[in-house]
Amino acid sequence: MVNLFKSKVCPQCGKKFDSVKGSCPHCGSKNESRDKRSFSFDRIYTVGHIRELLLALGQLVFIKVLVYIFESVLVSILLAKLGDRESASAWIQANYGALNFWLSFGADLLILVYAIIILRRDFLPLWKSFKNPKVLLGIPLGIAMLIITTIYSSFASQIMPGESNGNSLGLLTILDYSPAGYFLFAVILAPIVEEIMYRVGLFTFLKRIHPVVAYIGVGLVFGMIHMQSFTDPVEWLHFPGYAFGGIALAAIYDWLGFGGSVIAHMTNNGISVMLTIIYWMSERA
Ligand SMILES: [Zn+2]
Repeated sequence: MVNLFKSKVCPQCGKKFDSVKGSCPHCGSKNESRDKRSFSFDRIYTVGHIRELLLALGQLVFIKVLVYIFESVLVSILLAKLGDRESASAWIQANYGALNFWLSFGADLLILVYAIIILRRDFLPLWKSFKNPKVLLGIPLGIAMLIITTIYSSFASQIMPGESNGNSLGLLTILDYSPAGYFLFAVILAPIVEEIMYRVGLFTFLKRIHPVVAYIGVGLVFGMIHMQSFTDPVEWLHFPGYAFGGIALAAIYDWLGFGGSVIAHMTNNGISVMLTIIYWMSERA
C-alpha cells in the first residue's frame, strides 16, 4: 500500500510537496507518479498531514483542556468570593445560560483563531470552493440529513419517552440568554469551525490511511463529542443520530468539497435552530 503521509520530492524543482497533490505547488509541474487513491483528494482541500492532525487535536484536545482550566479557575474564584460550595453552585445555576453561551461561543472563536494560525496562507484559498455552483447541492443534502436525524431521534425518544439528551438541553438554556447569539453561534460559527476541524483536519488525515477508516473515525468522533456522558444510556441512544450526521457531512465534503459541507451543515443547523426558536417562543407565550 502506498504511504500517503510521505511527501514527494519534485523532479522539476527538487522541493518537497504533499504526495496527494496533482501538481507541485512550488513550480506547478504535474505529479506524474500519483497513486490511484490520491485522485480522490482532488475535490477536497489538503493542507498536509501534520496540519490536518493539528486541526483535529485543536478541537478534540487543546480546546477541551482550555475550557477545563477556565471552569476550574471560575469555580475556585466563586468559592473564594462566595465562601461555600452551595452558593457557588447556586451562582452557576443562575447564570447557566450565559456561561454556557460564552463557553461555547468563546471556545469556537478561539478554535477559529487557532485554525487561522495553523492554516495561514491556506485559510483564504479554502473558501474558493464556494465558487463552484455545485456546492448549493449542500442545501437539499442538509435538509435530507435533518429529516433522517429527526426521524431517528423521534424513534429514539419513543424508546425512552420524555428524555432529552444533554446537548439539546444545553442549547435551550443558551436560547434563554441570547436568541440572536445562539443563532450566530449555531448557524454560522459552529458549522464553519467544525467543517475546518473535522473535515479539513480529521477526515482528510484519516483518509490518508484509508477512506473506510476516515468515515468510521469521523462518525465515532462526531457521535461522541455530542455526548455529555458515556455512562448515560439516553446519551448512547442519541449517539447513532450524531454519528450519522458526521458521516453524512464527510460524504458531502468528499463529493462537493469545503463549500458543500459548510452549506449542508449550515442548512441542517439553520432549520433546526429555527424550529427550536419557534418551540422556545411558544413555550414563553
Ligand atoms: Zn516543483
